[in-house]
Amino acid sequence: MTRNEILFSRAQASIPGGVNSPVRAFRSVGGTPRFFTRGAGAYVWDADGVRYIDYVGSWGPLILGHAEPDTVAAVQEAAARGLSFGAPTEAEIELAELLKERVPSLELVRLVSSGTEAVMSAIRLARGFTGRDLIIKFEGCYHGHADSLLVKAGSGLLTFGNPSSAGVPAELAKHTLALDYNDSEGLAEAFDKHGDQIACVIVEPIAGNMNLVLPRPEFLRTMRELCTKHGAVLIFDEVMTGFRVGPASAQGLYGIAPDLSTFGKVVGGGLPLGAFGGRRDIMEKIAPLGPVYQAGTLSGNPLSVAAGLVTLKKIAAPGFFEALAAKTRALVEGLRQAAQKHGVTFSAQSVGGMFGIYFAAECPASFAEVMACDKEAFNRFFHAMLARGIYLAPSAYEAGFVSAAHTEADIAATVAAAEAVFAGR
Ligand SMILES: *Cc1c(COP(=O)(O)O)cnc(C)c1O
Repeated sequence: MTRNEILFSRAQASIPGGVNSPVRAFRSVGGTPRFFTRGAGAYVWDADGVRYIDYVGSWGPLILGHAEPDTVAAVQEAAARGLSFGAPTEAEIELAELLKERVPSLELVRLVSSGTEAVMSAIRLARGFTGRDLIIKFEGCYHGHADSLLVKAGSGLLTFGNPSSAGVPAELAKHTLALDYNDSEGLAEAFDKHGDQIACVIVEPIAGNMNLVLPRPEFLRTMRELCTKHGAVLIFDEVMTGFRVGPASAQGLYGIAPDLSTFGKVVGGGLPLGAFGGRRDIMEKIAPLGPVYQAGTLSGNPLSVAAGLVTLKKIAAPGFFEALAAKTRALVEGLRQAAQKHGVTFSAQSVGGMFGIYFAAECPASFAEVMACDKEAFNRFFHAMLARGIYLAPSAYEAGFVSAAHTEADIAATVAAAEAVFAGR
């Protein structure tokens, strides 16, 4: 047995499925998950000492790469001054100010400890602010594991949702309507029918949890108009896209201001941190100013805030996103050409430092189109790349991430590995 196999079997005796978050278990692709012992820049090393070029980056946070020296130093300094106070600190103000400066729709911001917590709080706030219960989400978007959002579409269009997880009361799921991504007409119909009951529409402005699906420009515009018209709160869940697709996140790319936004991943620089914020009149409804309760023992944790501050400052360097986007484009273009050369049905695209690869002729625009991609072809590709030292997300339904630490040589090595795989070598 390899060391990874030994650890996986030991983990399963004490941890459900051997993992603390399900995708890590490799269930989708099969095989043994790699247990990592360390990371540096673009690379990770597993328990058997094998090095991989990493395109997961802890599922998005590590935009500067693994163990980035300035981030590590800032966290070490913060740790030496105290791990947690449960009282306000100056660094939290600085982080909130930076977030407001970068993303103009944020008038007030609150820090929490995860993306799930940010979204859960934003939903409660939207309901408390509007006095309405109904939520609209879109199939294939993931917003963390709060009960109200673990909901899939009911049997017909515009029927209320069903739980997508055991343990979520059907009574609760009934308050969530799950519509098709990129379907502006479906959204307009839902507002026609339920407009005065809709508390909020929550969307990944660029969907990154069903592989990568880009929004049609009119989809986000229509959503903004309908929410304004009907007094519903528009929530952009930028936990993944925040400071990953551009300096002002997805809302900056598309020039649309949501009422509330949620963040996580990059804003914590690899430590547990989330944030939500937006319009002042809405945010003022949160305790202690208003009647919507929300709290956290470790909220604004000094170590997480230190890591987030370094990350946000470094990605503001001139040309940072241009370079990251160019590198990511070079990767997907290289993969596309390699597939084309060997007659493999494949497509790929990127936005900022985020990419999607699809075993399909065209890039998908909806959940159904993502589901129609050749999953078995992806699984074979995943394992063949893994064997060549390339660590892709272990599922056909996840986006990929490039960091500032990836070099042109890393990209070239990845494309060469893919070409060998596509050639059947
Ligand atoms: C990752 C993610 C979440 C959940 O964040 P956690 O920190 O894992 O709780 C929510 N929304 C989106 C869009 C995400 O990508």
